[in-house]
Formats: sequence, structure tokens, C-alpha cells
Amino acid sequence: MNTFDADVVMVGGGPSGLAAACALAPHGRSAVIVDEALDHTLASRAPTVHAGTLGVLARIGCAEELIAEGTRAGTFRMRNRTTVLTTQPMHSLPGPYRFAVIIPQHRTEAILRARAETLGVRFVKGRASGVVQDGTGVRILLDGGGVVTGRFLVAADGMRSTIRQAVGIPYPETAASRGDREPMLIADVRPGQVPEEPVIVMSSGALVLLPLPGGILRIIMNAAPEAGVSDLEILRREFLARRPKGMDFEVGEVVWLSRFNVTHRLADTFRSGRVLLAGDAGHVHSPAGGQGMNLGIRDGVYAAEALDRSLRAEERGEPWEAPLDAYAQDRREAAAAVIGLTNRMMSMLMAPPVARPLRDLMLWTLSHTAAPRKQALALSGLLDTGPVFVDAPAGAMTNS
Ligand SMILES: Cc1cc2nc3c(=O)[nH]c(=O)nc-3n(C[C@H](O)[C@H](O)[C@H](O)COP(=O)(O)OP(=O)(O)OC[C@H]3O[C@@H](n4cnc5c(N)ncnc54)[C@H](O)[C@@H]3O)c2cc1C
Repeated sequence: MNTFDADVVMVGGGPSGLAAACALAPHGRSAVIVDEALDHTLASRAPTVHAGTLGVLARIGCAEELIAEGTRAGTFRMRNRTTVLTTQPMHSLPGPYRFAVIIPQHRTEAILRARAETLGVRFVKGRASGVVQDGTGVRILLDGGGVVTGRFLVAADGMRSTIRQAVGIPYPETAASRGDREPMLIADVRPGQVPEEPVIVMSSGALVLLPLPGGILRIIMNAAPEAGVSDLEILRREFLARRPKGMDFEVGEVVWLSRFNVTHRLADTFRSGRVLLAGDAGHVHSPAGGQGMNLGIRDGVYAAEALDRSLRAEERGEPWEAPLDAYAQDRREAAAAVIGLTNRMMSMLMAPPVARPLRDLMLWTLSHTAAPRKQALALSGLLDTGPVFVDAPAGAMTNS
């Protein structure tokens, strides 16, 4: 009989790995998280937790604290400088969460981590350099010679995933991404005054404004680097140029400023033997609509449900692959759908000047139809209900 450090090892203790670990514990499954950087930075990154993700977080006991700490957004308003063109009514969503929560990613991670610790998840600080699989489990090799063993592995180690590379899963750019690495500026600022609800402004470029707790405003804008001009200067200048009429404040104190390029990648498969991919290890796309972390958290929880089924099947001596295959297929489809959604949003936000009047007219016209409610539903993640598992026939025996 093999003994393992845990039923399941998560490599990566970001939102996806933490969610997976929290979701395994209630099934009575032991979980270890291996992360090279257990003390995370205060960079706030993903600020939006959507209603569908709140529902999934409620299953692992993390939704209420997030809601209590964050800012509730009942609408996402899209406008040009002078006119509100359409409003996505999160308050019209079905179910208990008729809003999105705006909260910095490091707080979401802190809440998940505290929950994981309460549930008895163990944390190992170390960098995974590879993985070896056999018929019974996985051995995660750490830099410096350590080894952590488990029956299964969730690779939640981000977009440069060492584990995904070690098991040889390709991670190609999707067609929409090629030649379209839009440079973006992202900042958290204290302007002294913030809008009450998220605002997406489409003027000479895109400007997304999200009110975080504590009087902090998240700003995301497309803006290329300029020789001899600092990003701070670009941020201040473009904010003034793009801000809506009537919004008379300036950027103010800058708490955090960073750059990233929009790219879209999707893993060819989300499973290799006993290894599942979750979160950015399997998909990455534009931040439009605030989908990335949400999808990763749902991946993590759905991975845990699939793994518990596979563990039970293996313990009965039955084939265990089907739940993991259902997970892999479902999550790849869910990620492809989100990539399509964020692509469409990016195309709309980044419309060339000549197309903007028509875009604005179309948005305003559609605002009087069911389109904004449909868009709110798509963004909420409520339609992403996870894999459907078909139980193996009773008595079926494994031949592996
Ligand atoms: C600048 C920026 C802005 C963003 N803005 C948004 C946004 O507005 N909305 C949105 O939804 N998303 C946004 N995202 C994306 C969002 O942050 C990610 O989708 C989310 O963090 C994915 O979570 P994850 O757990 O899958 O991966 P990560 O958060 O990347 O976590 C991976 C973890 O794995 C660990 N790790 C990596 N390699 C190893 C290894 N070999 N061994 C051990 N540990 C390892 C890392 O230390 C890390 O803790 C943004 C990302 C960036 C960089």
C-alpha cells in the first residue's frame, strides 16, 4: 500500500489552487498546496467576483466574508464621454447574489487561505520543477531536492505553469490573440472621490473604473508605452482625456501601477493522466469583463468535485478516469466561451475611430432590448455550472 502526503496536491496557491483545496476538504480529502511564494504581494490584480463565482464560493464557506468586505456593484455602466449607452443590470440576475463584489485579489486570496487553514489544508513552500506519474499517484519534484506525493495533482501554477510544461500540454495562442497583444495600464489610485458603481468609458480609448473598498479606484486603460514618458504621466494624461464629462476629479495618489499585454491562450487539454489544469495554467485572456480569476476559482471547485469522484471510484477498484475527462472537457469549453466573450468585449472597447459612432448607436439601441440582461448573465458566470458526471456502471472493474 502506497502512502502519500495527500490525496491531492495543488501546485500553486493562487485563487484557483486555494479554491480547489478548500473544496476537497469537505469531501474528507486531504490536500497540500505547494507554492513558491506563500507570502503574496499586495498587488490587487483581479478586482471583480461575479455572482456565479459567489455561488461556488458559498459552497466552500467563503462568499459571506467577501461580500461583507467588498463593494457591491448592481450595475456595470458603459458610456462614451457624454452619454450612458447601456447598463448591464447585475441586480436583475436570478439567485441570491444580484450583484458583483469589487474587492482586491489579495483579499480574495487571504479569505480563501484562511478558510483552507481552518479546513486543515497543509502548505509547503517550494518551487515545483517537475512531476512523475505512475499507476498509483504523482511525485512532485521540488527545487533543492524535496518531493511531495499525492494520488492526484491540480496544476494551478499560473500562466507559465511548470507542471503543464512538464506533462507536455501545449498552450497555444488562440487565433484572436495573434498580432493583438494590446498594451494595457492598470492602477489603483486614491482620487478623493470615486464613482459608486463600475463605469466603462469608451472615448479616445478604453477606460475602466472600478470602485474598490476604502476609497480606492481601479483604473484599467489601453495605452502603449511611450519613449521618454513615464507610465504615471501617461495614466494621468489619458485619464483626463478619456474621463466622462461631469467626472471632474483627477487620478490623485497612485497606490499601484503596472502594465500587461492582452493575450489569449487555451491549453489543448485540461488533463494528463492524474494531472488536471486549473486557472491561468489552462487559460488566459483579456481582463475585459473581469473573468480570469472567476473562471479559475470555478475550475478549482469543479476540479475538487471531479477528483473526489475519481478517488472514490479508485478506492472501489473501478475505473476512475471518467470524472476527470468530464472535468477536462467542460473546463476547456467554459474557457473557450469566456475567451470568445472577452474577445467580443475587447473588439467593442477598442473599435477604431471610424466605427465608434455606429458602435455607440448600436449599444444604445440594444439597451432597450433584452441584450443587457443577457450580457449580465453571461458575465456573471451563472451559466457555468460545471461538468455533468455520469457515474460508472456499478461493478465495473478497472483494467489499469
Ligand atoms: C496585472 C494583472 C491584472 C489582472 N487583472 C485582472 C482583472 O482585472 N480581472 C480578472 O478577472 N483577472 C485579472 N487578472 C488575472 C487574474 O489575476 C488571474 O486570472 C488569476 O490570478 C489566476 O489565478 P491562478 O490561481 O490560476 O494563478 P495565479 O494567481 O497566477 O497563481 C499561481 C500561483 O502559483 C505559484 N507558482 C507558480 N509556479 C510555481 C511553481 N513552479 N512551483 C510552486 N508554485 C508556483 C505562484 O507563486 C502563484 O501563487 C490580472 C492579472 C495580472 C497579471
